[in-house]
Amino acid sequence: VAFGYRRVAEGEKQGLVNEVFARVASRYDIMNDLMSGGLHRLWKDDMVAWLSPPKGPAPYAVLDVAGGTGDIAQRILQAAGRNCRMTLCDISPDMLAEGRRRMQQTGFARRCRFSVGNAEALPFPDRSFDAYTIAFGIRNVTHIDRALAEAYRVLKPGGRFLCLEFSEVDIPGLDALYDAYSFTAIPAIGKIVTGDGAPYRYLVESIRTFPNQEAFKAMIAAAGFSRATYRSLSGGIVAIHSGWRI
Ligand code: SAM
Repeated sequence: VAFGYRRVAEGEKQGLVNEVFARVASRYDIMNDLMSGGLHRLWKDDMVAWLSPPKGPAPYAVLDVAGGTGDIAQRILQAAGRNCRMTLCDISPDMLAEGRRRMQQTGFARRCRFSVGNAEALPFPDRSFDAYTIAFGIRNVTHIDRALAEAYRVLKPGGRFLCLEFSEVDIPGLDALYDAYSFTAIPAIGKIVTGDGAPYRYLVESIRTFPNQEAFKAMIAAAGFSRATYRSLSGGIVAIHSGWRI
């Protein structure tokens, strides 16, 4: 399977991905801001706006997979009614610990559960959640189709799937600029801030090998989701995909 541009044995990829995130966990937020010029905040706001979690008193259970540092969970809890409950699931205990620490700081931790788990084999029963979100996570999993099947399985009928992920730049001119920026500047910033550029080379390469908007939409539909659709943001640098379990 692809690990960035390298080919690695299927069983090897997740371990390599885990090493990347264990290494960057404590600097993860500042790196996001530096590398995206703060744009990741707007993209995450857009995803939560599209989810538009109910503000009323009805219970609403959201699973945020690859929940890392709690960025998505925090936004959802801010936007939703008081009976919204978040479950953060991440394969990296280091990223999850960072998330717990931050949710405690913001006072949202009592409405959160933290669970170490793999997107490809979620440790939750069928039909448990009203919504499933995943931001900048799915391109790290070894089998995207298995992760989508798991998302479908744990959603209740009527449940919503939303995924924020890097995608294909579709503005002529911006693509060349974006290439130059990502292949040179991002590993360089990574090296300065974390002392190691290699994890960031992987991150950039994994963006290029991820399916584009239409291909990913087809995968979501193939997993059984209805009304699969997407919105491209910032010229396609990222896209938000949506689907419903009917
Ligand atoms: N969602 C957060 C955000 O948007 O800031 C974190 C995104 S971070 C780029 C990717 C996260 O995916 C890391 O925390 C990593 O540990 C997690 N991850 C990687 N492979 C995973 C898997 N197979 N299952 C669950 N989480 C995984």
